[in-house]
Amino acid sequence: MRRPVVAGNWKMHGMRAENARLVEALIEGADDASCEVVICPPFVYLWETGRQLKDTTIALGAQSVCAEVQGAFTGEVSAAMLKDAGCRYAIVGHSERRQLYYEDDALVARKFVAAQAAGLVPILCVGETLEERDRGVTEDVIGRQLDAVIAVAGVTALARAIVAYEPVWAIGTGKTATPDQAQAAHAFIRGRVAARDANIGGGLRLLYGGSVKAANAAELFGKPDVDGGLVGGASLKADEFLRICAAAT
Ligand code: PEP
Repeated sequence: MRRPVVAGNWKMHGMRAENARLVEALIEGADDASCEVVICPPFVYLWETGRQLKDTTIALGAQSVCAEVQGAFTGEVSAAMLKDAGCRYAIVGHSERRQLYYEDDALVARKFVAAQAAGLVPILCVGETLEERDRGVTEDVIGRQLDAVIAVAGVTALARAIVAYEPVWAIGTGKTATPDQAQAAHAFIRGRVAARDANIGGGLRLLYGGSVKAANAAELFGKPDVDGGLVGGASLKADEFLRICAAAT
């Protein structure tokens, strides 16, 4: 039985006072959630949010991580620092990092390895653009993104990771993959991993991300290979996010 996960990616939103109010409302509403709830604030707020989450069931995650261990990498934050700040998870390979900050498959794989080496659970994002979907190469793209990590980290590393299928055309656009489109991509990812190791493929938690809202969450999470969601915009509203969490339990 795979325990569902709902992770909120705040992206570059929120300031101290509103974050504190949002987290307070989440703690009140999510404490008895039977899914795993993760929130990923901007780096600068991790410490404070982590203190607020202490002794609650909500886990802390980072939105990215540096591939290097330490040193002269101005502006970067290492996996060990994130762990030290109380993170349990780190998102790697988010499409905004891939597209806007030119993170390629090789770098994403190194970030994945760095996160695990420091004891973090990577949430590895994969997904195709609209142009790639229209060209019929969705599976080639997500297969390549997945294989790049497996080649470096090994398939067994996926036993300590989560994979998020996030079609780029659905992120922040209000367009959601249909439950059948999400299921097809998730089944493909699970199959690709299971072909290397059936146990790891079977146990791998796969999140769908791309304009998840309370109104569409239950239908998406009802699909057999969808084990929860990675939620952007809707994770900034406590009520909406809690309803998404409820749909995952
Ligand atoms: C995301 O940031 O990973 C995401 C899926 O965003 P949104 O839910 O806003 O589409």
